Amino acid sequence: MRVVKKFGGSSLRDTASVRAVAAHVARAHEAGHGVVVVVSAMGKTTDELMALAHQVSPHPDRRELDMLLTAGERISMALLAMAVRDLGVPATSLTGSQCGIITNDRPGAARIVEVRPYRVEDALDAGHVVIVAGFQGVSYRREVTTLGRGGSDTTAVALAAAIGAEVCEIYSDVDGVYTADPRVILGAKRLSALSHDEMLELARAGAKVLAEDAVAWARLNNVALFVRAADGRPGETLVRVDPPEAHTGVVGVAARPDAWLWRYPAALRSLALARLGSAGVAPLVDTTMPAGDALLLIARDVADAVDGAFATLCADLSELLSPEAMLAQGTLVSVVGTGVGRDPSLAGRFDAALSQIAPFAPRISQGLMRSALVEPGSATHAVGALHAALITEAPA
Ligand code: ADP
Ligand code: ASP
Ligand code: MG
Repeated sequence: MRVVKKFGGSSLRDTASVRAVAAHVARAHEAGHGVVVVVSAMGKTTDELMALAHQVSPHPDRRELDMLLTAGERISMALLAMAVRDLGVPATSLTGSQCGIITNDRPGAARIVEVRPYRVEDALDAGHVVIVAGFQGVSYRREVTTLGRGGSDTTAVALAAAIGAEVCEIYSDVDGVYTADPRVILGAKRLSALSHDEMLELARAGAKVLAEDAVAWARLNNVALFVRAADGRPGETLVRVDPPEAHTGVVGVAARPDAWLWRYPAALRSLALARLGSAGVAPLVDTTMPAGDALLLIARDVADAVDGAFATLCADLSELLSPEAMLAQGTLVSVVGTGVGRDPSLAGRFDAALSQIAPFAPRISQGLMRSALVEPGSATHAVGALHAALITEAPA
């Protein structure tokens, strides 16, 4: 059986945790599996490299920033390969480029367009554990690219699809996907299973336990994902096409910071959307209204690895659409689930939960998501109130 295992920065804090991951990997190899391990940069390395770049240059060149950031994952892959070899297991480390992860050429938030996993296949056939630097690829122009924050998840899913792995396991500091961020909401419950569609909306809503692009890739290629804790705690969440127990109501609550809402003359819509397109930001809401107005909601891309790019886009939009066009700015707090839009009582219960905290915050409803754009300072409070009202105390 072929398996892809991804270990995030929180599971690779120091050399002791690298050795612990090596022991886990060696056990999987000894059980007879073909093992591919995708690693992120250790601990907060990516943030530290980003800070270092900003010490040298206030607006670091995006190409050079990608060069710098990919070094973080290289360190992890080489150290892990050394530790695995010391356990008597043959291991080879490969960069994203060596693995044939081909991307478009958008620095900082490149999209994978194709995977040519020949070297991974060869190393697996030779009986090696393959250790891959996540979060990176190479463009058709042979430029090294990064996949946006959290992008190692995407590397893992794309490789799992490309080599036909039966299992893709994402290991981090939580033992699964919860109904809300368990570090913030104490009553959050682990979900045993959820569908790709539900997880995609939860990731879009801001639950960073899985990167949005990774879930989109998994859905497209029908890859089942297991989310588990790296420290071996029991418990997991399975994300797949048709989970055994379907949810009919709300699966989770999440928050996405830095969202901006504009109302502006619809005549400027193509110009505004063109600006978004060149900045690589997809709108969360883009609607026109009968009076000739248009509404636009965007949020800082969680994939926006380049500090300041989103702020520049917002300044640009304010100039294009007029500063008065900006209606609200804050944290987008959302409930997600197949019940949203189907359960007639949900909109009322959503409003009631926010009646004290954010009575006048703009409400937005689309697809599997119902949201309010609240002041950043009340976001945690709002998530807690929605979680209590729509999940903990929800009628069965
Ligand atoms: P890694 O470094 O392993 O990639 P991340 O920090 O990207 O890990 O993702 C794990 C974190 O996601 C958890 O520590 C948790 O705080 C956060 N998180 C946010 N929403 C959720 C959720 N709904 N379920 C589980 N974890 C969540
Ligand atoms: N190291 C990168 C980041 O911090 C990629 C990842 O962790 O998946 O965003
Ligand atoms: Mg992550």
